[in-house]
Amino acid sequence: MKTEALFDRDAYAKEFVGKVISCDEITKDGKPAYKVVLNQTLFFPEQGGQSSDIGTLDNARVIDVQIADGVIYHFCTSGFLIGEEVKGIIDWQHRFNNMQQHTGEHIFTGIAHNTYGAENVGFHLSDNTVTLDLNIELTDEQVAYIETTANEIIAKDVAVKAYYPNQDLLGAINYRSKKEIEGAVRLVEIEGVDLCACCAPHVKSTGQVGLLKVVSYGKYKGGTRVYILCGMRALQDYRRRMDILAKSYQQLNCPEDELPEKIAGLLDDNKQLNYRINEIKAGLLRDKIDSIIPDIKDVTIFMENLDAKTMRDGVNILVERHDGLCAIFSGDDEEGYNFVIGSKTRDCGAIATGLRELLGAKGGGSKQMAQGNVMATRTQIEGVL
Ligand SMILES: [Zn+2]
Repeated sequence: MKTEALFDRDAYAKEFVGKVISCDEITKDGKPAYKVVLNQTLFFPEQGGQSSDIGTLDNARVIDVQIADGVIYHFCTSGFLIGEEVKGIIDWQHRFNNMQQHTGEHIFTGIAHNTYGAENVGFHLSDNTVTLDLNIELTDEQVAYIETTANEIIAKDVAVKAYYPNQDLLGAINYRSKKEIEGAVRLVEIEGVDLCACCAPHVKSTGQVGLLKVVSYGKYKGGTRVYILCGMRALQDYRRRMDILAKSYQQLNCPEDELPEKIAGLLDDNKQLNYRINEIKAGLLRDKIDSIIPDIKDVTIFMENLDAKTMRDGVNILVERHDGLCAIFSGDDEEGYNFVIGSKTRDCGAIATGLRELLGAKGGGSKQMAQGNVMATRTQIEGVL
């Protein structure tokens, strides 16, 4: 027997009484739970890309709701007797939030459809994100236009209606639909903006969406994936971003508008400082190289924070002066070492292979020179060399 879907008739009802048809003890996500079927329910099940309602049935928490063949299953933290009457209360804040997001999605997609001929090919509404996928690539200007127009429609407070039209009417009207629908088609109409087949609860007028903000968008499967936030979620996100911004400009001690310039300046300073540090390090390495007497054949130098070019230049000088294996390792025992090795007489490629086999080093090279990195201690490296 199909469950009577009370949310279908009234998206604003928050409480109901239902009779328990079945109750099975199961395991859900590794925990004991109860799978409960009622004769009727206000709980919207996960479907059409939207996550389910949550709430309570008597003292049990409803943690998930699923639908199969018209039967709605409530996953609860405790069970009931068959035939028992239970009082259901949906988490209204959670539901209304979902209604704001979902109606917002219809507004956005309706405008994209009417203005640019876009078809909706995907929709996802979870507790964290709302994404909609369109089959065409939208430009920055087009996304901005749709966002602005959507907020104008929100401000106009246009009526949103959900209904089941009769078959004759359905054949005569043009509505958006992601798939061929079996059984009665439920339409959600935003007057003059959108007409779409949809089974979910919606707000009764666009003003209740409050605000629609595109958070990000990008190319996706030949079309566009758009992340939106509506209503309270948009406000929370705005707050979160303002907070990040405030922390940043307070820390950098500059007006908000000068933040990008300030960061660019700091990055540039950092680059110049790094350049200067590398110069000093190269000088220190050179002093060390000059202090080694030429009679020594094999030379291995360990130093911190050398860049790749400085290491290569150092090894080239060493190879000119010493006949054996010349190696420079940069790093420390905790983070591991980058290395460059060179030699006139020894096979550096083979030595790199040895470091790989014995110490798990990465990298390689030619007979004359090899480079790479290794997660090992100085003592281990010296042992292998
Ligand atoms: Zn929908």
